[in-house]
Amino acid sequence: MSSSGLLFVVSAPSGTGKTTVVEQLVKIVPTLELSRSYTSRAPRANEKDGVDYNFVSRQEFEDRIARGDFLEHADVFGNYYGTGKAETEARLATGRDLILVIDVQGARQVREKRHGVGVFMLPPSFQVLEHRLRNRSQDPEAAIQRRLATARSEVSAVSEYDYVVINDELDRCVAELRGIVLAERARRDRRVDVIAPIVK
Ligand code: 5GP
Repeated sequence: MSSSGLLFVVSAPSGTGKTTVVEQLVKIVPTLELSRSYTSRAPRANEKDGVDYNFVSRQEFEDRIARGDFLEHADVFGNYYGTGKAETEARLATGRDLILVIDVQGARQVREKRHGVGVFMLPPSFQVLEHRLRNRSQDPEAAIQRRLATARSEVSAVSEYDYVVINDELDRCVAELRGIVLAERARRDRRVDVIAPIVK
């Protein structure tokens, strides 16, 4: 048994509220940390470099791809997003669990390379998703339609994940996700060190 932390991979269509859920989750689950991605997209008004993302230029992102620096990377809505390989492995090696919030293309790449626990988050309905997308952004109609179309194709990837949660109500969804993390930690193969001295 390795003392490496568990890697959780969460995907959800844009507008599902995954960031809020996962930020709440890491506040209440000790030794669970949120990974910080790299992106070539420009920071939004409320975002800080090194906090929300590591913001880099397209050129720097492409240099990092060429060097093989990413565990996974994808083009999402015309911008690059990726997870640093070295920092991910270094953090897991400390024994802490890590959560990646990435799109379905990235999740597939992670699955090909290493063990992870996949969680897909769904909105309660497409009607609710559309309502949330319209409410939260001043995006033009075309951008909203594009996000909805992407969401429709992304949800078809749900069968590739180990767990599904519905974000109908924040606290309930966070609690359900917490339950998944705790259950995964309690798997027998993760507890060999704890079991051995008791069951001699
Ligand atoms: P946003 O620009 O709204 O912050 O994120 C857009 C999309 O990019 C979201 O669906 C989010 O899950 C995805 N994303 C964020 N970071 C990563 C990453 O490191 N890798 C991949 N593959 N997708 C990411």
